[in-house]
Amino acid sequence: MLVVLGFLALTFIVLLPAQAGAAALDGAGTASLKSSPVDSAARSGSGQQVGSGQGSGTGAGSAGPDASSSAVSSGGGLAIPGFPKISRVLCLKQCVSSTKPTRGAIIALRGDNLGRVTRVFFAARKGRVAARLRTRSRGAVRVTVPKQAVRGFVGVIDSSGNRTRTTNELRIFPISAIPILVFPVRGPISFGSSGSRFGAGRTGHTHQGQDVSASCGTPLVSIRKARVIYNQWDGGGGNYVVLHNLGTSTNFVYMHMIRRSPLRVGQVIGAGTQVGRVGNTGDSSGCHLHFEYWIGPWQTGGHPIDPLAYLRSLLK
Ligand SMILES: [Zn+2]
Repeated sequence: MLVVLGFLALTFIVLLPAQAGAAALDGAGTASLKSSPVDSAARSGSGQQVGSGQGSGTGAGSAGPDASSSAVSSGGGLAIPGFPKISRVLCLKQCVSSTKPTRGAIIALRGDNLGRVTRVFFAARKGRVAARLRTRSRGAVRVTVPKQAVRGFVGVIDSSGNRTRTTNELRIFPISAIPILVFPVRGPISFGSSGSRFGAGRTGHTHQGQDVSASCGTPLVSIRKARVIYNQWDGGGGNYVVLHNLGTSTNFVYMHMIRRSPLRVGQVIGAGTQVGRVGNTGDSSGCHLHFEYWIGPWQTGGHPIDPLAYLRSLLK
C-alpha cells in the first residue's frame, strides 16, 4: 500500500506591511477649508459624493487587490489549482488591534482560493470549534471568532475537502484588553517642527491643528468611541472626517486622507476602528494627517486647541 504524504513544502511568505519611514515634513499643508463644511453638509444630507475616489476597501467581501494572494514563490508545493491558502489574518471589529482579535470579534482570513470555503475552525479547550461564516470571496473569508475559541491555528475546509490552516497560531484576547484610547496613525510618524504645530502661520490664517507626517496609505483609526458627523471633501482639507467624541463636547478632525472614508455619517465607531488612510489630498504638500481637536461644535461655535500634548500622551 502506498502512502502519499502531500503538502509538505509550504513556502510561506511573511508579508509585512510596507512601512517606509515617515519623512520629516514641515508645514505640510494648510488645511484651511475652501468652503463651509456645514453648508455643504446641510445641502447634501449626509455629505456629498464629491471629489476623488470612493472609500472602498472595507465593503462586504472586499478582499481587495492588496490581499497579497499570489505571492507564492517558485519551488513551493502550492501549485495545485484551487487549493485554499491563508496568508494573513486581520481583525475587523471588536479588536485589540488589527492583528489581535477578541472572542466575538469579526476577522478576515485573507489569501487565495478561499471562495469555496465551507467551514472555518478555531482551536478550543477540547479539540476544535466551528466559526460562523459571514462572507467569503476568492481572496477572503470573514468569520466571527467563537466564544469558545482559544489560542491556536485557524483551519479552513472547502467544498472539495481541501483544507489548510494559518501559518501561525492566533492569539485570542479578552474584551477587557481592547484599548480605550488609540493613537490615530498606525505606523511610523513625525510631528515635524514648528511649521507643523498648532498656531503656525499660514497664508491668511493660522494653523488650527497638528500635522502628523506618515507614509501615504498608513491606516488612520479612531482614538476613542465616537460618532461620525462629517465625511466629505474640501479643496483645503481634501478628504476629511469629523468625529464627535461620545459623552463629551469634543470633536476630532482628520484631513487630507488618500480617499473618502468608508464610514457613514451617523455611524458610531469604537477606539481603533479604521477611519481611512494617510494621504495628500486638498491643499497639502506631503503625506500627512492634519489633526484638529475641538472643544465644542466644530466650525459652529466651538474652538480648536493645541492637540500635540494629547497626541503625545497617546504614544506612552
Ligand atoms: Zn495641517
